[in-house]
Amino acid sequence: MELVFATNNLNKLKEVQLLIPEHIKLLTLKDIGCFEDVPETQSTIEGNAMQKATYIKERYGYDCFADDTGLEVEALNNEPGVFSARYAGEQRKAQHNIQKLLKELATKKNRNAQFKTVISLQINNTNYTFTGICKGEITKTQQGEKGFGYDPVFKPHGYNQTFAEMDLSLKNTIGHRGKAILQLIQFLNS
Ligand code: IMP
Repeated sequence: MELVFATNNLNKLKEVQLLIPEHIKLLTLKDIGCFEDVPETQSTIEGNAMQKATYIKERYGYDCFADDTGLEVEALNNEPGVFSARYAGEQRKAQHNIQKLLKELATKKNRNAQFKTVISLQINNTNYTFTGICKGEITKTQQGEKGFGYDPVFKPHGYNQTFAEMDLSLKNTIGHRGKAILQLIQFLNS
């Protein structure tokens, strides 16, 4: 089976490639000749995931899946959520986003947060949705060099390391994206 992963994010690709079994051949956007920015203009994480998957299916004709992820912080009314990528502006810089987040939380006691990944699968002209959540807390300082995005300030509940300090295999086992991808794989195998 061939399936396109509709992302230009090489970090997401790396995580997902480690999880997808060999009998599913993962194609990248490059592989199908897609070099454009796939639009994500919806107001929810679910909406964005579906928009990206539908866009690729309609324009390029491939069965595919897309990932949209957001960081939901309790003390900030679940923001940045769908705005996580451009939290500190349209440049979408991870360091700027992290600095803004730490500043917003500086006076808050409650640092609980969760990552939410929605995978939208577009296959045989039908859309399916899988959601993975990882609960944790926002640290006061950045810790670790691995991973991407908000990983240096997200410590999952029950662990003493941020995602940026963990091996990718552990992040994949306990993380939001890994949980959503596992559901996708179970669905494809069923
Ligand atoms: P998007 O799903 O590519 O729109 O990502 C939204 C924002 O969340 C971006 O700033 C990403 O860098 C960040 N992000 C997505 N997934 C992760 C993750 O697994 N860890 C840390 N940050 C992430």
